[in-house]
Amino acid sequence: MDFSSKLLENAVEEMSQLPGIGKRTALRLVLHLLKQPENQTEKLVSALHNMRSDVKFCKKCFNISDTDICEICANPKREENVVCVVEDIRDVMAIEATSQYKGLYHVLGGKISPIDGIGPGDLQIHSLVERVKSGEVKELIFALSSTMEGDTTNFYIYKQIEGFAVETSTIARGIAVGGELEYADEVTLGRSIVNRIPFEKSLKNS
Ligand SMILES: [Zn+2]
Repeated sequence: MDFSSKLLENAVEEMSQLPGIGKRTALRLVLHLLKQPENQTEKLVSALHNMRSDVKFCKKCFNISDTDICEICANPKREENVVCVVEDIRDVMAIEATSQYKGLYHVLGGKISPIDGIGPGDLQIHSLVERVKSGEVKELIFALSSTMEGDTTNFYIYKQIEGFAVETSTIARGIAVGGELEYADEVTLGRSIVNRIPFEKSLKNS
């Protein structure tokens, strides 16, 4: 692309660093901002800046939060000894949208994936095992997507907590095959959480 302005080119270059945004789309977005009042761009920049500098991770479940302990963990109405293991905040949002789940979460921050160089130490697995060891967890629900990485991660955690007094279950298989958890529709996802099955049973089936 040949730009008549270095300033424009820089803005397009930075915008196109975002996933799914090619140079053409970046140019369209940047030109859109140029047409808007200047304070629109300022609001966008300060929202991004504030998010980046002030956002926290809940000290208990590692969900993204504005406070040290997130609203879900701090809510006395939630069942605090049921913990659902998910990959990231999008899964928490998807499960919350079903209104079918009253327990807490543990957000791993990804899945074990040797190809991408992501090992157990890069994820919030140690903190999860510590939660189980402390005796605060009665049931652990695995809700990672049914991919090879998801299965590997589930099994790794399962092995780590073997021998502790905790029940393990998994959301019904078949709901998210070939797709991520966040794409399952609310009714299906809600039903699969309510009708979760013992984790050992899911191993025998696969
Ligand atoms: Zn939390």
